[in-house]
Amino acid sequence: MKKRFLLLLLFVITAITFAAPKPYVILVSFDGFRWDYLNRGITPNLEKVKADGVSALSFRPVFPSKTFPNHLSIITGMYPAHHGIIANSFGDPFSKSFYRMGDTNAVRDGRWYLGEAFWETAERQNIITASYFWPGSELQLSYRRPTYREYYDHNRLYEKRIDGVVNWLQLPSDKRPRFITLYFHETDSQGHEFGTDSPQINEAINKLDGLVGLLFQKLDEIKMRDSVNVIFLSDHGMTNISVERSINIEKIVGQYKVKFIDDGPLMMIGPAKENFNEVYQTLKKNEKHYKVYLREELPDYFHFSNHPFIAPIVIVADLGWSLITNRRSDWLAKTKGTHGYDNNQLDMHGIFLAVGPNFKKNYRTGTIWNIDVYPLLCKIFEIMPRTNIDGKLERIEFILNR
Ligand code: AMP
Ligand code: ZN
Ligand code: ZN
Repeated sequence: MKKRFLLLLLFVITAITFAAPKPYVILVSFDGFRWDYLNRGITPNLEKVKADGVSALSFRPVFPSKTFPNHLSIITGMYPAHHGIIANSFGDPFSKSFYRMGDTNAVRDGRWYLGEAFWETAERQNIITASYFWPGSELQLSYRRPTYREYYDHNRLYEKRIDGVVNWLQLPSDKRPRFITLYFHETDSQGHEFGTDSPQINEAINKLDGLVGLLFQKLDEIKMRDSVNVIFLSDHGMTNISVERSINIEKIVGQYKVKFIDDGPLMMIGPAKENFNEVYQTLKKNEKHYKVYLREELPDYFHFSNHPFIAPIVIVADLGWSLITNRRSDWLAKTKGTHGYDNNQLDMHGIFLAVGPNFKKNYRTGTIWNIDVYPLLCKIFEIMPRTNIDGKLERIEFILNR
């Protein structure tokens, strides 16, 4: 009896000693950081990440190449038509209610989110998670959000965000999150206001690179630098626009009863039933510097047809062009850059770099798709992904060790 007990004890001790420790991942998003900003010679810290880890030539967003749809695709592994956040702002024509990224009640209302975010998948499988900002991380339902999260505050100092993450990593190990998101808007804001070739965007790029250095310095100080995986990515790129390259869609179909939804790189049109065909044909006849599609006709790679909130007519501007109406074109004069276009346009691509114990070293690869990050995270944590996702582990797992 005593011998059997000793054997069991030995087995338990061996199992505990050799069980793989749960990994750590910090997922950092630099909003609007275009893929080629890395080639400007102003990002020494990211250069070091490249040498020590994995870097992709570019990171392909989903359509539309906007902030909320893409952050949700990264964290769920699904296209927007599947995870439900089809735009930064959109309406539900059935209940006549609206989702807006600036509306606190809407962004916390679980009914809009049809996918399972990685933090839900992870928490269900006993992994503690945290979010220092990420679209979709603030849901009221406790089982759909990370254990720890911060409510979005655009003006929160960047250094304070990093301190928050480092504080979480110093919690006792049974309370400490293993997966943490972190978000910075700098390159998006400066890219919109000053364009992609301005001194201001270069300052923003350099500032974010400085934060990369700061994060590693802090991880060093708490002796966790070698045990933490850090992924740096962006939701989309940016391209320059101008007032001269604009098309007033209202001038083309204003004689009909139509509803113009959104503007800029993408516009949706909700015409009344009685003049649907005329509206579509008129837009088709005038198709210059944009493409007009019936919802069902959109290119397959947009994966943007299969959702009831997508309007029946979708117009996508050519790269660098803007779609406007009579009313709301004042923003254009104040904006030098934007995004939202065709996701195969290289200017819409972002960055993907990763470093840490689970990633290969000094490994450069081609374009990576953002919907593949969710299955990658599940693989790192050795947990079951949802089976209804669009992302594919086999397209991305070669960047991992082993
Ligand atoms: P976009 O219009 O696609 O360029 O959106 C970028 C903006 O999204 C940023 O400037 C932020 O103000 C906003 N944003 C980013 N993350 C969040 C969040 N978690 N909650 C609310 N707004 C956010
Ligand atoms: Zn963005
Ligand atoms: Zn933006």
